[in-house]
Amino acid sequence: MKTSRLHLTAILLTALGTSGAFAQEGRSSHIDESGSEIIHHRVNANVGGPHVVSYAAPTAGSTAPISSPLTNHGGPVITTPTAYVIWYGNWNRGNGTDTPEGQQIVSDFFTAIGGSPYFNINSTYPGSGITGHVTYGGAYTQTGTYKTHLKDGDIKTIVGNAISGGHLPNDLTGIYFVLTSSDIAETSGFCTRYCGWHTSANIAGTTRRYSFVGNAARCITGCAAQSTSPNGNAGVDGMVSVIAHELEEATTDPDLNAWYASTGAENADICAWTFGTSTLLPSGAYYNVTLGSRNYLIQRNVKFVSGVQYCLMQ
Ligand SMILES: [Zn+2]
Repeated sequence: MKTSRLHLTAILLTALGTSGAFAQEGRSSHIDESGSEIIHHRVNANVGGPHVVSYAAPTAGSTAPISSPLTNHGGPVITTPTAYVIWYGNWNRGNGTDTPEGQQIVSDFFTAIGGSPYFNINSTYPGSGITGHVTYGGAYTQTGTYKTHLKDGDIKTIVGNAISGGHLPNDLTGIYFVLTSSDIAETSGFCTRYCGWHTSANIAGTTRRYSFVGNAARCITGCAAQSTSPNGNAGVDGMVSVIAHELEEATTDPDLNAWYASTGAENADICAWTFGTSTLLPSGAYYNVTLGSRNYLIQRNVKFVSGVQYCLMQ
């Protein structure tokens, strides 16, 4: 089952190449060292490469019904997730992006996302029981020496250690985000194959759902939609869209066996790198949603409207 889905994804990626015209594609993923499937948030083909224009509007995307809709494959969803953050690396670098102010942009996002019109999109999935609410369970900053080259298994270890060390709760409905500073590589393909990923794995005897998202400043043209951003930190603002993507996928398809399309694409994959209507700020940055007191540019998600599925912002 998974093998055939992976095969199809490879064909789609080959056929579509780097064309910016496509609105939808299948699942991009790989298998980690322990045999778990890792679902990617692919890099941005719309603005990647040498043709980035700071003042170009972000890609709006199609308003038509999506052509390869989501179906429910029966696995569990997380009706009311709690998001936890593990800050990994050095988030006090004084480089304008790996900073405490950058961390605040993310924590403000997690505080405001639950119950927002944007995240309530997930509550439209028929019969799922998904509430649209998200609790922010807090953050753990891992300090001291750190690896600058992480493998997939290292991410799992980082999550396991944060829980076993008592730094974060052991939460059955938790989604654990490992957020790395821009000096850190994830060697299975951060910045080349993906901008983030999510999966689930057995950690200390229990299924845990977790995600990796790296600071997009490491590859701003590949993992961000703009190089000038609403909160003055393009790397971290770029991360927020990837985090939103992984959060809604981990809510609706936490164990990779619930809501996905026949292409293998999960909800956020179908709408990746599309933003609907964006507004230009005097700074030159675009935003498309206000959450709490901040503006963000975050990608659209699949919404059910009278049984038909569209990429929408609310
Ligand atoms: Zn995805």
